[in-house]
Amino acid sequence: MKTLFTKEKSEAAATELKSKKRASLGRTYDLQSLYDRLNRLYFDSQLKLSIRWGKQNLVKARSNVLLGSYFDKSKEIVISRRLDNPRVPLYFLEHVIFHEMLHSVFPREKHRMHTEKFKKFERLHPDFDRAREWEKTSLKILFESNQISLFNSLMARIS
Ligand SMILES: [Zn+2]
Repeated sequence: MKTLFTKEKSEAAATELKSKKRASLGRTYDLQSLYDRLNRLYFDSQLKLSIRWGKQNLVKARSNVLLGSYFDKSKEIVISRRLDNPRVPLYFLEHVIFHEMLHSVFPREKHRMHTEKFKKFERLHPDFDRAREWEKTSLKILFESNQISLFNSLMARIS
């Protein structure tokens, strides 16, 4: 009886681990390994957060603002699935993850999410300038082309 119970328990744990893995493993990028690397490099592996791709959301896909979010209560980082794309450079995705990780270190002050301290630390990342530049020049194009293909796939399904 005892062994059966333990077996069921370990199977449940294995299933949970599997679904966690699936949630962070994208078609192009594996968020968990990127997070682990950043945690090691910049936070002495001290952060204990979970990370996953967001669910595909048609409504949100039309506005191009939200790239990532950090939820303090659940200690969870959620990254927009639109960034799971080979046209998104690794350094840009890392910059977004790094930004969300910083939110767990520097909590909001009153209504300010991005305090001076936060911004100062964010700029220490070696890819900060490159990532900001890519965001300005290429992110919009990427999302616009995503919307077109989304539209096409919807039309294909209808017709
Ligand atoms: Zn932020």
